[in-house]
Amino acid sequence: MSLRELPSVDRLLQGSEGVELLQLFGRPLALQALREQLDLERTQIRAGGNTPTDKQIVTRARQLAEGWLIPSLKPVINATGVIIHTNLGRAPLSAAARQAVESVAAGYSTLEYDLPRGARGKRDQHTEALLTRLTGAKAALVVNNNAAAILLALTALARRKEVLISRTQLIEIGGGFRIPDVLKQSGAKLVEVGTTNRTHLHDFQTAITPKTALIMRAHHSNFKLVGFTTEPSLAELVALGRQHGLTVLDDLGSGALIDTASFGLGHEPTVQESLQAGATLIAFSGDKLLGGPQSGILLGDGAIIQRLRKHPLARAVRPDKLCLAALSATLLHYLRDEALVEIPIWRMIAAPVGDVKARAEAWRAALGQGMLIEGSSTVGGGSLPEESLPTWLLALETGHPGELAASLRAQSPPVIARIADDRLVLDPRTVLPEQEPALLKGLASVLSDTPQPSTHTPGAA
Ligand SMILES: *Cc1c(COP(=O)(O)O)cnc(C)c1O
Repeated sequence: MSLRELPSVDRLLQGSEGVELLQLFGRPLALQALREQLDLERTQIRAGGNTPTDKQIVTRARQLAEGWLIPSLKPVINATGVIIHTNLGRAPLSAAARQAVESVAAGYSTLEYDLPRGARGKRDQHTEALLTRLTGAKAALVVNNNAAAILLALTALARRKEVLISRTQLIEIGGGFRIPDVLKQSGAKLVEVGTTNRTHLHDFQTAITPKTALIMRAHHSNFKLVGFTTEPSLAELVALGRQHGLTVLDDLGSGALIDTASFGLGHEPTVQESLQAGATLIAFSGDKLLGGPQSGILLGDGAIIQRLRKHPLARAVRPDKLCLAALSATLLHYLRDEALVEIPIWRMIAAPVGDVKARAEAWRAALGQGMLIEGSSTVGGGSLPEESLPTWLLALETGHPGELAASLRAQSPPVIARIADDRLVLDPRTVLPEQEPALLKGLASVLSDTPQPSTHTPGAA
């Protein structure tokens, strides 16, 4: 076969399929699709393939263009049972937070406008008052995410100076955030204190030099220190810092305002405890256990927050209006004492296991198949490693679990399930109630394509 037999783009556009392509996608995209498809055909022919007809080329170009127009960032149904799933966008927003984003996105807003004075205002004001009222901190600053919060704090407060941190806390969390690398980027010098499993207060004491600017404590996040281990408490570090005039920065990670221990989980350090222990500066994420949008929150006294706010890096990591709208609405849930019912991740954490079981049972009834098994949900998001909540899972016993999972991911919206003990399982705890009809539709469609074993007895549990 000869490459010369391939048509020109112009000839393809003159056929009836070509005209339709132009109408559907407009000239720029239609041309791009035809050119790329012709390139693909050329490669095929060189590899020994047949020369396609004009109609085939245009049809394939149309499929290409259709694929380009499907957004790759789209909602999915999280049936994994991991509540703060980093790959699936961490915390879903509350109805009020979504509404706030919508109303601010649709038009102009008071982002940096002081209505009573009719003059320029500060974007900080929207969240600072809420954060200080809620936590008792003197001042607050919101940035793009917690990694940015830590980078800003270290750059503004410890550049060219020494930062002490325990070797037990030199963590790497997902997405390439490593405490030693962030320190390096900030221009601060990392001074490792103690050993991998045990660090004592006197290790910090002896590490202090005239160049020391800051003591940092980092939440272990996604791992657990067990066995023959010790670390000084935050309060001890604060007392030491005070003696030597050093800033104590607490990277709290998940930023819980509510005690997870009330729900049968381990205790995740709370923002209030850090404040009570007297940390000079506290940093945490807005989209982990706070349950809001991606953001990094810094709490401290007026002077230290002002130093951070004035640093040029603060401008580079400032949050946008959509983030501030969602964060304000999320914080209001705490202020109104309705976080457990309004904030999705807290609703999931607080959901009684009986309710989860009832939902799994309803799914089985609706599908006419599957089996209920006991399992566990996890909090995720670098909080509470090894901790889990009891749950009930709907296990599908038909087909190959990996193939079932792939078919579920191909649904619209995609359903992300989990494979446990060679079975495909779905955890109702992380499925938002309003997504249930779509979930059941996706499941029914996948199951109708899957051959059923003859021994199957619906409803067997
Ligand atoms: C998650 C986490 C971070 C990073 O926060 P992002 O909001 O993802 O940037 C930093 N430190 C700790 C301890 C964390 O758990």
